[in-house]
Amino acid sequence: MTPPTNKIDGIAGASIAIGAPLTGWLTVLDEVPDAVFASRMLGDGVAIDPTGDCLVCPCDGEVSALNASGHAVTIRIAEGAEILMHIGIDTVALAGRGFTPCVRQGDRVKRGDVLIRFDLDAIVQAAPAVVTPVLLLETDHFTLARTRDNGPVKAGDDIFTLTAKAAEAGTPAETATGATLERALLVPLAHGIHARPAARIKEALSGFSASVSIAKAGKAMNARSPVGLLTLGIRLGDEVTISAQGPDAAEALATLGALIDSGMGEKADPASAPKAQPVAQVAAPVAQGTAVLPTDGKLAGVTASPGLAVGQARAFRLPEIQVAPTGQGAAVEQARLEAARAELARRLEAEAAHASGPQKSIIQAHRAMLDDDGLLEAASLSIGDGASAGHAWRTAVRPQAAALRATGDAHLAERADDMLDLERRVLAVLEGVADEPLSFPPGTVLVAEDLLPSQLMALDKENVVGFVVERGGPTSHVAILAASMGLPALVAIGPALHQVADGTDLILDATGCTLHVAPDAATLATARDRLAVITARRAAAKAAAGKPCHTADGVRIEVFANLGSEADAKQAVANGAEGSGLLRTEFLFLERSTAPTVAEQTADYQSIATALEGRPLIVRLLDIGGDKPAPYLPIPAEENPALGLRGIRVGFAYPAMLEDQIRAILSVQPVGQCRIMVPMIAGVDELRRVRAVLDRVRAEMGITDKVELGVMVETPAAAVTADLLAAEADFLSIGTNDLTQYALAMDRGNAAVAGSIDGLHPSVLRLIAQTCQGAARHGKWTGVCGSLASDPLAVPILVGLGVAELSATPAIVPEIKALVSALTLEQARAHAAAALECATAADVRTLARGFSA
Ligand code: PEP
Ligand code: MG
Repeated sequence: MTPPTNKIDGIAGASIAIGAPLTGWLTVLDEVPDAVFASRMLGDGVAIDPTGDCLVCPCDGEVSALNASGHAVTIRIAEGAEILMHIGIDTVALAGRGFTPCVRQGDRVKRGDVLIRFDLDAIVQAAPAVVTPVLLLETDHFTLARTRDNGPVKAGDDIFTLTAKAAEAGTPAETATGATLERALLVPLAHGIHARPAARIKEALSGFSASVSIAKAGKAMNARSPVGLLTLGIRLGDEVTISAQGPDAAEALATLGALIDSGMGEKADPASAPKAQPVAQVAAPVAQGTAVLPTDGKLAGVTASPGLAVGQARAFRLPEIQVAPTGQGAAVEQARLEAARAELARRLEAEAAHASGPQKSIIQAHRAMLDDDGLLEAASLSIGDGASAGHAWRTAVRPQAAALRATGDAHLAERADDMLDLERRVLAVLEGVADEPLSFPPGTVLVAEDLLPSQLMALDKENVVGFVVERGGPTSHVAILAASMGLPALVAIGPALHQVADGTDLILDATGCTLHVAPDAATLATARDRLAVITARRAAAKAAAGKPCHTADGVRIEVFANLGSEADAKQAVANGAEGSGLLRTEFLFLERSTAPTVAEQTADYQSIATALEGRPLIVRLLDIGGDKPAPYLPIPAEENPALGLRGIRVGFAYPAMLEDQIRAILSVQPVGQCRIMVPMIAGVDELRRVRAVLDRVRAEMGITDKVELGVMVETPAAAVTADLLAAEADFLSIGTNDLTQYALAMDRGNAAVAGSIDGLHPSVLRLIAQTCQGAARHGKWTGVCGSLASDPLAVPILVGLGVAELSATPAIVPEIKALVSALTLEQARAHAAAALECATAADVRTLARGFSA
């Protein structure tokens, strides 16, 4: 490489504008995963994560060096400075594959001339990174000043200026960059800036015209791009810099600063920030895995969804959807992309309307990502550069997915699959690839490198008995979906999975974290026998589930289900639930920017009541606040949200909202099918306040039929005063999740104490006993709607303590009914008495494991 010629005298005072050689994402050199570039050993500059496939000349000059393999080029400008552009990292190893130089060394070139064309997809596949350093090779004689913030950039946009050092004085960088306001702050959000806070930031900035960014460790992202913010991996206690530029920059900066400072309902002490969970911890089996099958045929994985399956392997890999790199002009391609996004939005909304539980929230998350400003900007830039809509969408999504994987945070890395899922679905619409259900032969265990959430939802559920994937993580959306579908699954098995041929017998013991490949006949037979016993037990329970539940000695115990949607209600009825002991109404109130109207609420409650075909429906009044913030309720940041404005206290703080909800519940026909339950009661005065509202609204609506009003026992205060509450309530229902958290003073959302929170702790059992006794004194019944009612080890104890109604998750209702029917009350009482005498939760669990009816 020729050393730069010093021609400072000739340009004293002048600045040379340098244009972006690539379309893509402009960032800092620190982001380049190569110490030589990141440490500025070769020179200072910027980096661009390309989304296009063409490197253009950043300024007029001469090609002073062109690497033989065509991946790097240096331009010397007349004033002597040299700019090096190095496409990707370690791309020299590609020996020219994927690079087509369009110039030769010594050529005179003009700004904007094409220097190198390259195959972005091929380089993404083959190289560790495609991020491209753009460097001023020598900094002794020139000063480099950035003129563009990190973010999307189009080839040809000015990115920095060079100023001869002798001419530096009087030309400060700010003159070129304009006034950028900045503020540094520590993030006080318990879970960092995850999807929901990122969406709130976007919403809060919607009225401002200033460009606003958030930077962590030198990497900045458009603050209006939730996906971009996720890639920063911002965690509790991280220091970030927020900056704004534009006419209303000061107001935008103040709004954003106040919003982050507020903690957005998830406030925590930044000093208490836990260490991030490294990716390697989750992916350990992959890291250790070899590409060879072990001699015993047993591969270790991480449980995504427990269970046992026996079947034959089927490789699963959908071919990548092919897209043309170039389009038919920017207007046409932009319109195609918009149409495809609109169509997918419509499909996702329809799917969400029919989904429930985790499936619903995953679909909603994909719907939100579809409107991400960062993705849209990047795609539009590529389209403007000549790319087809499909190519532009793919090249917008991939760097973001790669950035999520690179955050070093296992949970964020798992969200990359959601991005790729969204990529595929948009391309499927654009290219007319049908979303057909994926069918397989009976007894299929899917073997895949990775599986996307929408692919799992599209599987033919009859024939697929489980799946195993090479990559993935236990908290990915695919894992959550598999668990909700009851499909055994192992993730992070590693590359040895490639050795498993189609048709190979497999024993998938997802509970035991093992995939047994090609077991011998005897082992296979034993596993089949085990599976047959489990299946027969489940089938018998399901067959008997239609009958009303009684103990073996004839005591009526109602087995209800907890619901969050109409789909849950249908599943509950199919599984023999005799009603619903808890409808969590929060699903209607969260993830939206305004409160639902009375009519919207009535329609939703009515559809669920109708799906229950006359069975009782206990509707819980809104339990919002604490761990469930609603964006439109300005609940101020609290030191201890679990002890603050939550549950019915929010209803008292927003009386119109409480009244609207009661009005909606009373509008459901037939009147009386819905009972009302009040969350987070601490004393009888609160119950009286709700009853007063209920009576007034009933009178206004002319309703004379009785509508039952019950109390959720979730605080130790409610448990020990159960007799006082039962004197005025129609029923009590114990929320063991919160009762346990408050009894043990352990935050149910805090991973540091998660291992010790157990509802079978003797203190919680004693509070349950006290509640049942208090209710019985006034002839009222006590139910349990917390997760203890879904725990087969807990159920005999609860029945023995006097619980008359168990509200469990819909899927487990048949098992709970079978369990109760096998018990006598006498056995259950003796068992419960022994449990009350245990010293620890572990002792109770040991006792419970040894109990058999
Ligand atoms: C509980 O606290 O046990 C309960 C059922 O309510 P949630 O889990 O919705 O707080
Ligand atoms: Mg609760």
